Amino acid sequence: MITVEKISNGTVIDHICGGKGKKVLSLLGINENYPHRVALMMNVPSKKLGKKDIVKIEGIFVDVENANLIALITPHATINIIKNEKVEKKFVAELPEKLSIGKCPNPNCITNFEHEFEEFIKSNELYRCSYCERLFKGAELI
Ligand SMILES: [Zn+2]
Repeated sequence: MITVEKISNGTVIDHICGGKGKKVLSLLGINENYPHRVALMMNVPSKKLGKKDIVKIEGIFVDVENANLIALITPHATINIIKNEKVEKKFVAELPEKLSIGKCPNPNCITNFEHEFEEFIKSNELYRCSYCERLFKGAELI
């Protein structure tokens, strides 16, 4: 068992699909210039997922909006907000109902030629482009 120091104030994201931890960090804008402690544990054995990644980030509190973007990469990740070494809040990342980021992956979609306002509406587990009406996985849009 590997033990990683506890963080005092920050966010622990658990139940990330194995191998996706790095992508979660980059989505949150964490790169080599980030000034605080960050731990990435990859391929931790998990009953639920087989293998999971866990990230611990000192110094930021992930909000629901960002957590929902994380769900696009890895659904059902658990977000733990840590304050003074205690879990203050715990919630599960859920796919957002609407997305207004990214580009439509359909190369023929009008939004790739004109500066239309992109919007993707959730339809079951997929997202429908409101212009060309094609369906995409969330991970394709970010
Ligand atoms: Zn489109």
